Amino acid sequence: MNAVTVFCGSKPGNDPDYMKAAQELGLQIALKSITLIYGGGNKGMMGAVANACLDAGGRVVGIIPKLLLEWEAQHNGLSELIVTESMHARKLLLFDKCDAAIILPGGMGTMDELFEMLTWNNLGIHDKKVYILNINGYYDSLIQLLDTMDQQGFMYDAWKTRLIAFDSVSSFMNALI
Ligand code: AMP
Repeated sequence: MNAVTVFCGSKPGNDPDYMKAAQELGLQIALKSITLIYGGGNKGMMGAVANACLDAGGRVVGIIPKLLLEWEAQHNGLSELIVTESMHARKLLLFDKCDAAIILPGGMGTMDELFEMLTWNNLGIHDKKVYILNINGYYDSLIQLLDTMDQQGFMYDAWKTRLIAFDSVSSFMNALI
C-alpha cells in the first residue's frame, strides 16, 4: 500500500481515546512509509493524525477546498497542500489518490465521505477497501444499520469484502502486515 486517505472529524470528540487513536494511526502510517492523504485541516482528529504522521517523518498530503481554507485552519506544515475549487473536487481527489480509505470517529462530513466512497465502490467507479476504526464502539450503531440494510435487501453484492471494521489501530495495523 502506497497511500491511504484518512477521513475523520474536524473536532476532537469527547472521548480522549479518539484523539489517541488518531495520533497512533498517524504514527503507524509514517512508520510504514505510507503517504497519508487527508482533508488538509489542522483541527481536531484531522490535525492530530496529520501532526503525528509529520512528527514521525511521514509524508502528508492535504486536500482542501478554497472555501474551507480559513474555516478549517489549513495546515501549513504539510508535505503538500492541494487547494481545490469545490468540495466535490476535493472528495474526488481524496478518493482517487489513495489505495484504501480509513475512517476514524467523525461527524457528518466524515459520514458523507464514507458513504460516497462506499457508493462509488458499488457503482464500480473504483474498487478500494474502506476500513472503519471503530474506537470504543463509536460506529457500533452504524455497522448495525448497514447490517439491517443488508438483511432488508437494500445492499449490493460484495460490500462486506470492501468494508472492514477493526476495534483498534493496532488490530488494523496487524491485519495490514
Ligand atoms: P466532520 O466529520 O463533520 O468534522 O467533517 C470532516 C471533514 O468532512 C471536514 O474536512 C469537512 O470539511 C468535511 N465535510 C463537512 N461537511 C461536508 C459535506 N457536506 N460534504 C463533504 N465533506 C464535508
